[in-house]
Amino acid sequence: MARHTGRFLRINLSTGEMRTEPVAEQVVMALIGGRGFGINYLYQELAPNIDPLGEHNKLLLLTGVLAGTSAQSVSRWMACTKSPLTGGFARAVGGADFGAWLKFVGYDFIIIEGKAERPVYIHLTSDSCHIHDAGELWGENTSETQEWLYQRYGRSTRVACIGPAGEKLVKYAAIVTGRRTASRCGVGTVMGSKKLKAIAITAQRNLQLHDPVAFKQLVREQIDSYRASKGYQHHRDMGTTETQDITNSLGIFPVKNFRYGRQTDYEKLVGQEYRKLRTGDFGCYSCSARCGKIHLVPAGPYAGAYSEGPEYETIWVFTGPVDNTNIEATVAADQLCDDLGLDTISTGNCIGFAYELYEKGILTKQDTDGLELTYGNHSAMIALITKIALREGLGDILAEGSMRAAATIGNGAEAYAIHVKGMEIPGYEPRGAKSMGFNYATSNIGASHCYGYAGQEVFGRTVPREVDRFAEEENTDIVVYNQDFRAMSEVGIVCAFATGWGWFPHLFGRMLVAATGIDQLADTDYLWRVGERIINLERAFNVREGFSRKQDTLPQRMLSEPLLTRGAPGEGQMITAMDKFLDRYYRARGWTKEGIPSPQKLNELGLGYVLRDITQTRNK
Ligand code: SF4
Repeated sequence: MARHTGRFLRINLSTGEMRTEPVAEQVVMALIGGRGFGINYLYQELAPNIDPLGEHNKLLLLTGVLAGTSAQSVSRWMACTKSPLTGGFARAVGGADFGAWLKFVGYDFIIIEGKAERPVYIHLTSDSCHIHDAGELWGENTSETQEWLYQRYGRSTRVACIGPAGEKLVKYAAIVTGRRTASRCGVGTVMGSKKLKAIAITAQRNLQLHDPVAFKQLVREQIDSYRASKGYQHHRDMGTTETQDITNSLGIFPVKNFRYGRQTDYEKLVGQEYRKLRTGDFGCYSCSARCGKIHLVPAGPYAGAYSEGPEYETIWVFTGPVDNTNIEATVAADQLCDDLGLDTISTGNCIGFAYELYEKGILTKQDTDGLELTYGNHSAMIALITKIALREGLGDILAEGSMRAAATIGNGAEAYAIHVKGMEIPGYEPRGAKSMGFNYATSNIGASHCYGYAGQEVFGRTVPREVDRFAEEENTDIVVYNQDFRAMSEVGIVCAFATGWGWFPHLFGRMLVAATGIDQLADTDYLWRVGERIINLERAFNVREGFSRKQDTLPQRMLSEPLLTRGAPGEGQMITAMDKFLDRYYRARGWTKEGIPSPQKLNELGLGYVLRDITQTRNK
């Protein structure tokens, strides 16, 4: 089997049909793999305006070109679909071993179509694929589901599954593998809508590289660059459990539903406090960083809580939004979300939104089944997580996401729903890290830090240049750079953390060549152009769904309320130049004033074929 397998598996759950298909050569050359294949097949195969939870939506699980190799930090995997949360393109990245196993079993990706009549799971080996009844597993949490499948198929099996939240169609359900998740955009919701509980892959390590000798040498170079990198050493030591130390000191740690940029008593949450609960670490396939830090609560009300996390976003979202400083509660919340199959960012944001509504009197104890949603009350937060996953009481409303929940609750609740395009915002305050904020606003998947992470603003990175984090339209180039960079690296699929450690992209292209034999991939300009092509195709997908400039914005709070930082830098900051930024961003991208890729740009990128769809949509 060639390293770049060039084939995928299509499984229709309505009919039970399945077949292997080749990836066309021109698709490989234009989009390389991973996220590029994801948007290509969604664009080609989904009709506009279908119901994301209907049988015509498709769920793609994809590896990247380098998955399963000895290269470091490149075996991530990804789910792409039409999002039930935003109605646009969805992409969620997962870790652990599942991406490598998908490659070992012989596929670049799987397309899941249709809808089963009853709960099912798929078992895949290198020479078979079967759809089995999952009645026994429906209702089980993700740990129990995985254990059941390991018992049945052995320990050389890897599983991606949903929990009760996906079954109940919570709009931000995750897909879970091991204790890692592909969380965002409701990818687990789409899996639940298809009544697909799990995909289990039994495989042996099995790869053929185009040039294994050259590849081995490049991996040595990569490992040397890791060892020389302080960023790598620090990440290996602390993972992301110390990022809140930085974001609090910068005044960009959102507190009380994005009113403050620093938490009072934040020294109770710092990385060294998490270290006291640490019992081990965990790494994804072939990654020596092992940045997943394992925590166990030894005593107290959360005694026994265990998680391979929480990572920064989860630490933040179960502290800042509800003004909680009990870190044991964050471990318990992380474990619950993993078991129930919930995206922690959206879950915690929806809870923070409810706490503010309670403070304002828009929600009362009658609406919360007696829960006191007062700031700092972490036991109510924990109770709400389960209510959301099981759609009980107020949890049923919050399960729709903050945008839809606000419309249901009414009484001015919309003003407190903090989202972009319907997806909740991660733990970097847009008013104090403005390139990050503008990335949220223009991202094609809704508010995602990973869509174009502004490491320049958080970690002071100086590539491609130094950045003033309070500048607005002046940083258009940085937003474009970060978004294209991430899209390019997700053909790999390279971990977002690893791209900061000095080996990327100069080694990346050479590794792609050694793996595939495609010489053009050594050219970094070629790779950048692929990144830009992916962003444009994702934008074209959204335009076809009716998106335009109107959706490229931030919550009103960021545009009209000054940030309060409690002594950290950035007091009084707001987003003041949203329109000017958009004008410049669209110009830099070669898009119209409405945020639509121009015919010139599409033709330049070899995407002229989407022009007819865009013209038809605009003429409606
Ligand atoms: S850096 Fe961490 S998240 Fe990234 S691949 Fe390595 S272990 Fe996984």
